[in-house]
Amino acid sequence: TAKEMGRNTYQYYEPDLTASAFDRLRLENDLRAAVRRGELLVHYQPQIQLSTGRLAGVEALVRWQHPEQGLLAPGCFISVAEEMGIIDEIGVWVLRAACVQMMDWDASGLSVPRVAVNLSAQQLGRDSLVGQVSDILEETGLAPARLELELTESMIMQRADRAIDALRGLRALGIAIAVDDFGTGYSSLGYIRQLPLNRLKIDASFVQDLDAAEDGGMIARAIIGLGKSLGLEVIAEGVEREAQNAFLRREGCDIGQGYLYGRPMPAADLCASWGSSPAG
Ligand code: C2E
Ligand code: MG
Ligand code: MG
Ligand code: MG
Repeated sequence: TAKEMGRNTYQYYEPDLTASAFDRLRLENDLRAAVRRGELLVHYQPQIQLSTGRLAGVEALVRWQHPEQGLLAPGCFISVAEEMGIIDEIGVWVLRAACVQMMDWDASGLSVPRVAVNLSAQQLGRDSLVGQVSDILEETGLAPARLELELTESMIMQRADRAIDALRGLRALGIAIAVDDFGTGYSSLGYIRQLPLNRLKIDASFVQDLDAAEDGGMIARAIIGLGKSLGLEVIAEGVEREAQNAFLRREGCDIGQGYLYGRPMPAADLCASWGSSPAG
């Protein structure tokens, strides 16, 4: 058939594309098995209260311990999982793991005030989301006020009609909502104002700018001001240098997250760096 011919032609003329299609198929198969085989794990990155230097919380960031390729960052597999329609399974797994970890830290005497977990667009679109989150909180015993879910502006705007109901449902459970990568999406400020949010996360690209040019801090400063007028806390992402930290503190940004304060790390390492009295 023409289709088969097309495929043969494709294979003949595009060996690299064929190879990558094969790799992709293998990645899909591996990923489908990864959850079942227990190859996923979660690293935790500290979020620091800038006025005190204390631990405000952690962000849970998924990793995949691939049997051959080693530790993979979410950039290598999250979008594939979304396309495969298995992101819900991964998302629920991460959420449960993060809640269990909080209870483990409690038991070991390390007080981590809050854990933030990233949601995918597909999860936000599911009617089952609020019930799932509620079940996990109940199962694990984590106080809802200690859980935050992160969503991006584009996820919210993509499903503007449903998002507001989903967010209200989540807030009604007592959990917090943060807007991730804020400033990079196209969102209507009028709409943002109506949403039941708790925090804005300034995207790392605007934090990068802080020490680049004279007016580099303009966007970060504007987001901090916006947060203040909306009554939201502001978290800066991707803080790597002391000059950025100083700028953010001076401008009244509430929380910092970035390599300057700590990289994403295994749960046990967080105990080692934050187990005894926190700095500041
Ligand atoms: P994000 O939620 O914006 O997470 C912040 C990313 O910036 C993380 O990358 C983190 O390791 C990195 N980062 C933190 N501080 C610094 C810094 O100072 N400098 C630099 N250059 N990078 C920094 P990571 O862990 O590779 O995660 C990438 C993205 O994958 C996340 O972006 C998030 O959108 C997504 N993701 C991670 N875990 C999950 C998950 O469980 N579910 C879903 N749906 N998405 C996830
Ligand atoms: Mg995030
Ligand atoms: Mg982000
Ligand atoms: Mg991001």
